[in-house]
Amino acid sequence: MSSPLDPDDWDDFASAAHALLDECVAALRSADDRPWQPVPGEIAEGYRLARDEPGIGHSEAAEALVSNVLPYHTGNTHPRFFGWVHGTGLASGLLSEMVAATMNSNCGGRNHGAVYVERALLDWCKDVFDFPTEASGVMVTGTSQATVIALAAARQRALGPSSRGDGVSASGAQLAAYALDGVHTSTQKALELIGVGGAWLRRIPAGPTGAMDPSELGRAISADREAGRTPFAVIATAGSVDIGSYDDLDGLADLASQEGLWLHVDGAFGAWTRLAAEPWRHLTNGIGRADSIAFDFHKWMSVPYDCGVALIRDQTAHTATFSNRPAYLAYQSGGLGAGNPWFCDYGTDLSRGFRALKAWTAVKTYGTSAFGEAITRNIEQAHLMGRLIEAEDSLMLAAPVRSNVVCFGSSSPEAPGGLHAEVAQTLQYAGEAVLSTTKIGGRVWLRAAIVNHRTTDADIAATVRAVVNHLTGMVEP
Ligand SMILES: *Cc1c(COP(=O)(O)O)cnc(C)c1O
Repeated sequence: MSSPLDPDDWDDFASAAHALLDECVAALRSADDRPWQPVPGEIAEGYRLARDEPGIGHSEAAEALVSNVLPYHTGNTHPRFFGWVHGTGLASGLLSEMVAATMNSNCGGRNHGAVYVERALLDWCKDVFDFPTEASGVMVTGTSQATVIALAAARQRALGPSSRGDGVSASGAQLAAYALDGVHTSTQKALELIGVGGAWLRRIPAGPTGAMDPSELGRAISADREAGRTPFAVIATAGSVDIGSYDDLDGLADLASQEGLWLHVDGAFGAWTRLAAEPWRHLTNGIGRADSIAFDFHKWMSVPYDCGVALIRDQTAHTATFSNRPAYLAYQSGGLGAGNPWFCDYGTDLSRGFRALKAWTAVKTYGTSAFGEAITRNIEQAHLMGRLIEAEDSLMLAAPVRSNVVCFGSSSPEAPGGLHAEVAQTLQYAGEAVLSTTKIGGRVWLRAAIVNHRTTDADIAATVRAVVNHLTGMVEP
């Protein structure tokens, strides 16, 4: 008897699959004409599943995917998408995701091809970020999860092996961590989750370059030590989410080693300036001296969501934090149960998808230098956007352009508070461009984070022009 969950007719399945592939290629090819659009109510309603769904078969399901799902994307494949920090995606992702779905590998461990691919990809990451070959790493959903993994290892090193069984409070130590005031919320969440407590994240103000002020940092560490607390980690930001600023990684590496602290780098998107041309590459000088780095493939590297990495210099600290292999996961000397270490020894997930394949295929397909070129171009485009904004009387920059993020808005001091959020929405509905907003100096500003390999200089100019047009219409009706 055939499986109730396999196609009745593989030839019919093949034609449905080929037709779907053609639609996907057409969608990627016409990315310029496919901005974000709101999901109509009846479409959203149509996603509802009945308790006893009858099943419509592959051909009809493929048609439903094309007409009711595919058009309602986030819009980040469009060349004028600059909101939040959203990667663009890659045509290679379409190929690798097909193969990953076909293989259906479980990368929690064992001895099979997908695990070797993940190791190869992580070795490439170690090369890029000047990490030693004996460092360990694991692919996770994104930087948020990678930060949990890295800071858990830092906590383990600070409190010793017994903390794993006894819990954080048994040591009697109150751990404290230090980061730039503009640090991403994922760091605070990670500290909450690992039992340190978000309030023990000390937010250090930025100096004139947008980096953590080293004397303020030194003072905060000393004050905590004097008060009997236990400083354990410095979290450096390599590319801040609000304005794209970078901490001085070499300076922080010196300080962390003097103070005996774990240096973690949040390099979600910004770590990848390691591949950029000078003068941008220098932004991440010293990154190879960190104890851990968290970064994403799904932002500036454009690999389809979701795809992040935690790299940990001290493999022993990494496995001491996570390894726990009961009898049913015992290591075998050969066969499928061999292949130590397993990725489940490096994080919280036991079952893991073949995330590595889309990143590996991307690097294999386009080559390292193509990514460097795209990243360099985005930074140049952010600076171009900055110059165009400064040339407009009606606009001003809210912060200097430091890398690929531009915060700007109306130069009119009378512009009402909600104006920039309104402009952002108007541009989104018009399909002209996607910008998001952030708060600087107590005011909401427009924000463009350029991590888009499809953006041309003309897209940058068109976006600035569209903002000017809408602002003019709004400020002087
Ligand atoms: C996006 C981002 C994060 C969180 O990463 P996810 O991949 O979304 O989990 C952390 N830090 C910075 C600077 C970011 O831009």
